[in-house]
Amino acid sequence: MERRNFLKHAGLAGIGSTLVNHQLTASGDNSDNESIVEQQHKIPTKGVFEVIVCGGGPAGVAAAIEAGRSGAKTMLIEAKGCLGGVWTSGLLTWILDFYYQPGLLREITEKLSKRGARCPIDTTTSSFSFEPEAMKLLLDELCTEAGVTIRFHTQVCSTSVKNKRLTHVITESKSGREAWKANIFVDATGDGDLAAQAGCGFDLGDPGNNQATQPFSLLGLLTGLNFEEVKEYTRWAGDKNSVSKKRLLEAIQKGGFEPSYRLPTLFPITHNLFMIMANHEYGFSALNAEDVTKATLIARKEFWNTINALRNNGGIWKDVKIVSTAEQIGTREGRRIHGLYTVSAEDLIKGTYHQDAIAEVRFGVDVHSIQLEKDHNNVNYNQGIKSKPYTIPLRALIAKDVNGLLLAGRCISGDFIAHSSYRVTGPASTIGQAAGRVAAIAAIENKLPQEIEFNRFNLDSFKQK
Ligand SMILES: Cc1cc2nc3c(=O)[nH]c(=O)nc-3n(C[C@H](O)[C@H](O)[C@H](O)COP(=O)(O)OP(=O)(O)OC[C@H]3O[C@@H](n4cnc5c(N)ncnc54)[C@H](O)[C@@H]3O)c2cc1C
Repeated sequence: MERRNFLKHAGLAGIGSTLVNHQLTASGDNSDNESIVEQQHKIPTKGVFEVIVCGGGPAGVAAAIEAGRSGAKTMLIEAKGCLGGVWTSGLLTWILDFYYQPGLLREITEKLSKRGARCPIDTTTSSFSFEPEAMKLLLDELCTEAGVTIRFHTQVCSTSVKNKRLTHVITESKSGREAWKANIFVDATGDGDLAAQAGCGFDLGDPGNNQATQPFSLLGLLTGLNFEEVKEYTRWAGDKNSVSKKRLLEAIQKGGFEPSYRLPTLFPITHNLFMIMANHEYGFSALNAEDVTKATLIARKEFWNTINALRNNGGIWKDVKIVSTAEQIGTREGRRIHGLYTVSAEDLIKGTYHQDAIAEVRFGVDVHSIQLEKDHNNVNYNQGIKSKPYTIPLRALIAKDVNGLLLAGRCISGDFIAHSSYRVTGPASTIGQAAGRVAAIAAIENKLPQEIEFNRFNLDSFKQK
């Protein structure tokens, strides 16, 4: 920033230069008007673990539970105040590619069903709709029972790497900066924050479109609707060919608003509780806090405009109310960290089965339009690629540039097209579980994951039969 602009922004133009310079130089460092130099300080090592998982979304909780159950002293660090990531902070109450995932996800979905937290309307095999508060409690319980040390409201902000080996993660929270040591780390932050801090290489966005990334969507919960009355507008088993989306779009337009997502979707959770996805925020980066803030402000306004428009229609919509918008705007993609193998579109087309397969994916390619088209229509960016069921190899979870680091969830090593398929939460959870098992065994034996013979991980139970 120009010096003049800096003073203008600081509200000090004309009077403040002496004051500003005095304050910065008084600390005796090399700070100037453009930047400051942070003082060197010692950071206490607050805890020593065998496995540390960073990020408690669908992948991270699975990794932590599995590592804990496998006997490793395990810690889970999460930036928000609950576990579940997009399932809870993001209010994405709709698990895709869940039915054939045989591992921990089956246990989670069965337990939610037993607690009456599965949507009673749609109990098909294609998706699993649930109450997010029930998910929060269940994940707390499963992690606690597995002996996992949970730390909320704590963000990974730096690392210590010695001779290419990750030794500590450094966090920032109300307790200040703290260091945590472990034998093996798992990056399940979704955006690959830990791996990037440790110096790993990564890819971002669509290489054919200037690295553009898919849009954000802010999701939210609605009430004041009755399923029997609005069912033709909702996504459920009776909604053949997703015609509900077109009807919902028309209802929003009739009420006086043009939503930025042209395939708005209303998901039933109970007979009078629904989740809605109706906005696409284009051109923002998940790796830039200013972008995420702007996208959230725009999306929340749009969310309200959408629901107000539905209510304008009266009739079945007259009592619709917002229960909550998500604390975290939905991020479809962040960094794809370089691993020992990169899952590619070719793998999806061929249906590649790897010798070191840790999970199978059945969900197809699903790239959301990366820009708002002139004619305001939803453009399909799937490049005409049809996928067959394919597998994720363990090598795609092992970071290439730094040792002692596994990847789990949407930040594993893959290309733009492949990521749009394996990122959904069914496979993300199974990938996380595998990372947790591998991390625990490697940590307990004081080895790197790539030094242990693959069949010793005994991951067959995670693969679809
Ligand atoms: C709008 C939208 C709709 C989607 N629709 C579906 C769908 O219908 N069904 C489906 O199954 N999937 C869907 N997905 C895809 C899916 O949500 C993600 O790809 C999935 O969340 C991947 O899980 P994850 O655990 O890797 O990441 P996340 O769910 O993003 O979890 C990452 C966790 O890490 C934490 N974290 C991040 N950075 C840090 C840090 N620096 N320090 C500490 N903690 C950190 C976050 O708070 C979060 O809890 C959708 C995604 C979006 C955005």
